[in-house]
Amino acid sequence: MSWDILPKVQLPSTRRMITLTVRRTEQTTPAFRTVTLGGPDLDNLTPTGFDHTVRLFFPREGQPALRMPTLNSEAWMAQTLLLPKSVRPWVRNYTIRRTRLDVNEVDIEFALHADGPASRWASHARPGDPAGIWDMGISYLPPAEAEWHLLVGEESAVPAILSILEHAPSSLAAEVFLEVPSSADIRTDVTAPPGARIHWLPRRDGPGLPGALALATVKEAALPPGRFYTWVAGESKLPTGLRRHLVNDRGIAKSDIAFFGYWRNGRSSPG
Ligand SMILES: Cc1cc2nc3c(=O)[nH]c(=O)nc-3n(C[C@H](O)[C@H](O)[C@H](O)COP(=O)(O)OP(=O)(O)OC[C@H]3O[C@@H](n4cnc5c(N)ncnc54)[C@H](O)[C@@H]3O)c2cc1C
Repeated sequence: MSWDILPKVQLPSTRRMITLTVRRTEQTTPAFRTVTLGGPDLDNLTPTGFDHTVRLFFPREGQPALRMPTLNSEAWMAQTLLLPKSVRPWVRNYTIRRTRLDVNEVDIEFALHADGPASRWASHARPGDPAGIWDMGISYLPPAEAEWHLLVGEESAVPAILSILEHAPSSLAAEVFLEVPSSADIRTDVTAPPGARIHWLPRRDGPGLPGALALATVKEAALPPGRFYTWVAGESKLPTGLRRHLVNDRGIAKSDIAFFGYWRNGRSSPG
């Protein structure tokens, strides 16, 4: 059976701009900061789990308030770009790591890095700071035919993969490769199906380009037999390099691979 008909992203059927405030922050590990956002507007969010992605809006440095788009459609983008920089918010892509709708809260885990408005914002966010989200749906859409899953990411995709594992059925068999900046960023409290084998890959040899270690490791790995679904995300060389390897060296069908460039080295995310 062909998997070509699988959609790449599943968007919510209805969605609204959601305005929230920071409730608290936590230094989860040296390289990860969790920001908890909350507010009654979360009634407008239908949590899906897995790699549930949002556009995150937050004020630029020096702006006294957050100017959220008012349009509840993709036209928000043009509306925002037309704003002068003095009032235009920053917009970045993030994953909802955890949801607690009973108390109107969501967690976002930021992989901190040297420079970037979102990383800076997460480092300095304080309770009461404004932020907003726009639901972008999920991209982890495995076909039922897959016998096991290959999940690969560097730190920017660690929140998505940990959430995928938490929401996966207990029968899931998976090989999971998670590259992190250092061994202090390895999580010891992961909830995952018993058939998911997690390989933590701390970058021991200094900074290096995120994703290079994960790519080299999977290239050398003895993978289980049987048809598998791959979900890979991170710095763009990781997903594109892994896809190339799987297709060219292991004969995997392109349609069995979901690959996402989460960011590109040396380039700011637009928005
Ligand atoms: C669907 C999706 C979901 C995502 N989910 C998450 C998530 O849950 N957690 C998370 O941490 N990230 C996530 N990301 C990645 C995040 O959106 C990018 O890292 C983003 O560029 C960070 O914005 P910034 O303002 O900090 O840096 P930018 O202004 O975009 O970039 C500034 C500089 O920093 C570099 N840079 C950007 N990101 C990183 C990084 N992670 N490590 C090292 N250097 C970097 C850029 O190459 C550039 O040189 C996701 C991306 C996508 C597309």
